[in-house]
Amino acid sequence: MTRRVVLIGHPVAHSLSGAMQQAAFDSVGIDARYELWDRSPVELADAIGELRGSDFLGANVTIPHKERVVPMIDRLTEEAHAIGAVNTLTREGKRLVGHNTDVPGFKAALDELVGRQKMPRNGVVLGAGGGSRAVVYGLIREGFQRVVVFNRHLHRAEALVKHFGRSAAHMELRAMPWHESIIEAELAKTKLLVNATSIGLVPDESPIPAEIIPPDLLVLDLIYNRTRLLRDAEAAGCRARDGGTMLLHQGAAAFARWTGVEPPVAVMRAALGA
Ligand code: NDP
Repeated sequence: MTRRVVLIGHPVAHSLSGAMQQAAFDSVGIDARYELWDRSPVELADAIGELRGSDFLGANVTIPHKERVVPMIDRLTEEAHAIGAVNTLTREGKRLVGHNTDVPGFKAALDELVGRQKMPRNGVVLGAGGGSRAVVYGLIREGFQRVVVFNRHLHRAEALVKHFGRSAAHMELRAMPWHESIIEAELAKTKLLVNATSIGLVPDESPIPAEIIPPDLLVLDLIYNRTRLLRDAEAAGCRARDGGTMLLHQGAAAFARWTGVEPPVAVMRAALGA
């Protein structure tokens, strides 16, 4: 029987996960098919219900469902519970288990961005969705001392800060309203900027104007294209990276959880064209 793995999101057409995961299954000889399911929020519960069938190995969950899916899952790993967002599902019989492999993906991307420099201790995160939660959790674990989260809808950033309350008790984790002047003031005090909004998926849109980007920032955009933000940051003299490394490593970790097989990382990287 050909096993199935699906990516559930809205939209999903832009995703490179299909090419990456299919190449991985084929290269290790696992008879599985990776499918893209575009499902709106009202269709999510039915889609999750379908995954309990024996032909499914598991799933990925992406924008905008990573938090919404949490109450629909039977069991969460400790890490997924701590983050409050799920990007990977595995099946134990008819029970679904929620994992978060964005965290190891983000760690790999952060290490690559920082390179041989000293790991910063202050960061600014744009966005407060499922991806942002993995980023903030990663920064807390990395030992950051001050992280400021900006979001269009402030209440979502405030909920994120509240969620991490206990694990962030030793450091300063703050939600701030999305005002250009406040973002500019925070960028002047920080070393790391992470874009975890979906602004930039549409080519030529950037979450912030080029003029407020200081020259010596480390900039990571979770979007895996050369976005306007990355181009502006490089023009300002910053070191900037897209979300390709995070995509690769979250995908490799998901593959390992579905199959129990060592992920063929080189094959997956080649499928991404990286
Ligand atoms: P969510 O839908 O959970 O969150 C989307 C975020 O973008 C929210 O903070 C939302 O703000 C913000 N946003 C969207 N549109 C606008 C807008 N027009 N103006 C201002 N803010 C906006 O998505 P995810 O967190 O799952 O994903 C966010 C991005 O990160 C996506 O582009 C995704 O592809 C990328 N990503 C990449 C990964 C990788 O492996 N490279 C892994 C995870 C995510 P609000 O709450 O106010 O609506």
